[in-house]
Amino acid sequence: MTRVLLATRNAKKLVELRRIVDAAGLDGVEILGLADVPEFPEAPETGATFAENALAKARDAAAATGLPAIADDSGITVDALNGMPGIFSARWSGTHGDDEANLWLLLGQTGDVPDERRGAAFVCAAALVSPEAAAASGDAVPGAEQDVPGRTVVHGTWRGALLRAPRGENGFGYDPIFAPEGDTRAAAELSAEEKDAASHRGLALRALVPHLRALLGDA
Ligand code: IMP
Repeated sequence: MTRVLLATRNAKKLVELRRIVDAAGLDGVEILGLADVPEFPEAPETGATFAENALAKARDAAAATGLPAIADDSGITVDALNGMPGIFSARWSGTHGDDEANLWLLLGQTGDVPDERRGAAFVCAAALVSPEAAAASGDAVPGAEQDVPGRTVVHGTWRGALLRAPRGENGFGYDPIFAPEGDTRAAAELSAEEKDAASHRGLALRALVPHLRALLGDA
């Protein structure tokens, strides 16, 4: 059976990635997480864009394991903050992965922003890197815009607005303070299926699947 690695240490993100890829119905493909492969050292996120970070994560995972690897880099971009927290979303409060602290800091920073200027978007860059492409690129990660065989990066964007207080229990990260466009609920009040159908991660991963099929010879 062909194996593909979903390279993320974020448990809730892994659940979403697996759910979305599973829903694509890839026959004869086994989807692994990082817990299923021997541990390898991970480089710090130093890219300037979501795409660069996603490519670096997928490249490192493919190089270390010899498996095709998928990674995403994502975050929330707030219009009134010129696109911040952006690539710093996971560590906005200073502590990587502290969803509560990140969310409350962002609410505090936007307290004075009026309703009509509370636009925001979740953005996801999803990268697929083959072990051959990973080996060929060595330590350098060629620019995200550069066309490299066996390497793909795609984006998904989910527009909405920042709420003023958290709502809902589902999802993770900033979901309790994000109201998707056309919905009065917070993202954390959507079912898993509703979130996947509209989310930045759902859009990006569904765009990546044809590339995965092609890479695995299942086009
Ligand atoms: P990274 O891609 O691992 O650097 O982290 C992405 C960060 O962006 C997460 O820790 C969350 O704070 C935020 N984020 C990304 N996607 C979502 C989402 O679907 N819902 C809520 N927050 C998200």
